[in-house]
Amino acid sequence: QNLTALIEQCVREIPDYPKPGVMFKDITPLLADPKAFAAVVEAVAGAYEPSAVDYVIGLEARGFILAAPVALELAAGFVPIRKAGKLPARTFRESYDLEYGTATIEMHTDAIAPGSRVLIVDDVLATGGTGRAAVELVRRAGGTVVGFSVLMELAFLKGREKLSDVELRTLTTV
Ligand code: IMP
Repeated sequence: QNLTALIEQCVREIPDYPKPGVMFKDITPLLADPKAFAAVVEAVAGAYEPSAVDYVIGLEARGFILAAPVALELAAGFVPIRKAGKLPARTFRESYDLEYGTATIEMHTDAIAPGSRVLIVDDVLATGGTGRAAVELVRRAGGTVVGFSVLMELAFLKGREKLSDVELRTLTTV
């Protein structure tokens, strides 16, 4: 409850970014506040037993910032899922539809061992397209998604419906 208020105080809204009509949730003030940043990392990591998570996956780019300290907290490895063309070695790729066109994300084929238990972390859940593709990448590598955690869920975009087969945890819902 306290945490919800803290997040709402520290995440600001930028109208018409990245395009007209979009109200962008900007988490940079939260990251710049050491108490809020620590509280968020603690809340995400605290929902899991350290022994129950082998890897924490961050989704480019703001997911990296949250997932890395969560990984350290859980004594788990950190693994990046990146936008197409950014990872240097062999990758699995997943594409998903955007309003106009498609987007592709990738994970190294050898990033996680088959059977690994994975927690996926991102800042904002919007339409769920990115999250859905990330879950598919983990499964193609033989991993099990034990949790999907986001700082903020934009409920009106119904991303949750695309993630109905994973345990989704959201610190705030707007
Ligand atoms: P989705 O695929 O539509 O769920 O969009 C989720 C991705 O877009 C996440 O990686 C977010 O970082 C990013 N995103 C979408 N909307 C926002 C926002 O309002 N603030 C910050 N990131 C956003």
